[in-house]
Amino acid sequence: MRIILFGPPGAGKGTQAKLIENAFEIPQLSTGDMFRAAIKNETELGKKVKGILDSGQLVPDETVVDLVEEALSDPKFSEGYILDGFPRTVPQAKAFDSLLDKADEKLHAFVSLEVPDEELMKRILSRGEGRADDTPEKVKVRLEVYNEETAPVLNYYKQKGVYKAINGLGTIDEIFGRIKAVLNSNKK
Ligand code: ADP
Repeated sequence: MRIILFGPPGAGKGTQAKLIENAFEIPQLSTGDMFRAAIKNETELGKKVKGILDSGQLVPDETVVDLVEEALSDPKFSEGYILDGFPRTVPQAKAFDSLLDKADEKLHAFVSLEVPDEELMKRILSRGEGRADDTPEKVKVRLEVYNEETAPVLNYYKQKGVYKAINGLGTIDEIFGRIKAVLNSNKK
């Protein structure tokens, strides 16, 4: 199964992606994790994107798309994957569509974790992961960037008929239960 796990910063994508990965045995690909690893390892990519991540802005589409295309060529993704953090703009979504078309593959589900804005800020500030972009000012920027550049991706997938809304409020298990139900009904 090929799944996009979508939602604003703080919606719980990373947490749920890991649960789906274990339960459905589908590997996860997180663009945020890839960028943070590149920064930590001080690679060329890491040097290029460090300032961008620190500011809460988005990495240029072309850089992200190239990285995802390269990463998805790994045979471990040949049976499917969960994308976390990508696509994050409409041009990224269109580029991803072309990648799928080229490979004659299709997307099975666009799982959208829906959480109200006021809850997001609370969650991020209390999660204490020590991320450089988890300060109140940076979170504000990330939420603004989300609303302006990323939220339109929702409509893009709604039109394609793969959009599945998930109520992102509740315990981790409750939310995962909702996702499982959607993915299981999708398999049939
Ligand atoms: P969150 O969803 O909590 O904001 P992520 O780990 O998904 O966190 O992303 C962290 C940062 O990495 C983003 O603020 C952005 O700078 C960069 N990033 C991750 N994925 C993308 C993407 N698809 N396009 C552009 N920038 C991205």
